[in-house]
Amino acid sequence: MKILIMVDMEGISGITSSDQVNADSGRFYAEGRQYVTWETNACIDGCFAGGADEVIVRDAHMYGKNLLWEQLDPRAQYVVGQTGDIRLPDIESCDGVILLGYHAMAGTPGAVLEHTMSSAGWQKLKVNGTAFGEIGIDAAYAGEYGVPVILVSGDDKCCAEARSLIPGVLTAQVKEAYSLCGARLLSREAAHALIRRKSAEAAGRCLGQRPFSVAHPVTITLEVTERSPLPSLRNRPYLRCIDGHTIEVTADSFVDAFWKILL
Ligand SMILES: [Zn+2]
Repeated sequence: MKILIMVDMEGISGITSSDQVNADSGRFYAEGRQYVTWETNACIDGCFAGGADEVIVRDAHMYGKNLLWEQLDPRAQYVVGQTGDIRLPDIESCDGVILLGYHAMAGTPGAVLEHTMSSAGWQKLKVNGTAFGEIGIDAAYAGEYGVPVILVSGDDKCCAEARSLIPGVLTAQVKEAYSLCGARLLSREAAHALIRRKSAEAAGRCLGQRPFSVAHPVTITLEVTERSPLPSLRNRPYLRCIDGHTIEVTADSFVDAFWKILL
């Protein structure tokens, strides 16, 4: 059984503020890198304990250069840096996906570091008329390859979003959000024990889980933030301009629609 762990930073235990996830912020970012590395190792350990025989990890926050490579579990392999148009590496051969350290979608009240893809540029994303954040994006993306998301970790708002979108998905809540930059945390030991236990449980029941899917054809609607420019439609005739802040695309698959709106 092969599991892909997508690692973001905003929902990692111990992280509550943007300077812990921003490479330009010095000592606080160094702290964030340590936290995400510890938690990734706890997740990997749980996957193997639950029956995985192969684990691949993608460092998926910002430029993909966050994990402390020299500290990582030697049993897994690591995809780092820019991956071009590969969002979920090796997804075709995976049995399940874990979204580790994820966060609630843009606009979720009181959620730690909530956003969808770009806090500066993206106001709201909808898929077939339903608001989606990064949990929905990656679940739909994996679903097109027949692969289920088996575990989502982050704050309470992130976990609630995952459960409302993906029936039956396991969640691991490592913090209770009070605001954009404030939360009540589990201790490091308790958080990592929770991640390890839930990852083992998720791996153990991975086979037989149903992948998440959206109806086809797929329409994605993107509203950008105030004063963010819309992309030029000149060479992208498949995009529709809805208004001064909003573009839309319809495609035969989620993956195709996603790349058409993103690139
Ligand atoms: Zn992130």
